[in-house]
Amino acid sequence: MNDCLFCKIIAGDIPSSKVYEDDLCYAFRDINPQVPTHILVVPKEHISSCGDVTAENAALVGHIFTVIARIAEAEGLNNGWRVVSNVGPDAGQTVPHLHFHILGGQRLSDRMA
Ligand code: 5GP
Ligand code: ZN
Repeated sequence: MNDCLFCKIIAGDIPSSKVYEDDLCYAFRDINPQVPTHILVVPKEHISSCGDVTAENAALVGHIFTVIARIAEAEGLNNGWRVVSNVGPDAGQTVPHLHFHILGGQRLSDRMA
């Protein structure tokens, strides 16, 4: 049984605010936004984190970055934005399904950590 929260969101078993979807990835609004625009982009295939990116799934990750750029454009983040992916406990990863945070809509912190 797949107990992964984001796999359940992708399957529609848990509701989410969809921003974009295609055969390979799904984007939705973060339930606890840290900035005015806070969107998560995930592969539909379960990959645990950036630490599990390999030659086999590199094209999928590349595709996700094209989607990230188009979402930022569609959301009107013309003045800049940030993409973040936390890996493991030291980075505070809470959901072990690869996800990219798109953060924007205000001046972001000068510090990244
Ligand atoms: P992480 O801390 O793993 O980098 O990011 C996980 C993100 O998922 C957090 O920003 C958190 O607010 C978000 N999140 C956790 N549970 C849910 C949920 O059920 N729905 C949505 N839309 N976001 C969630
Ligand atoms: Zn998953």
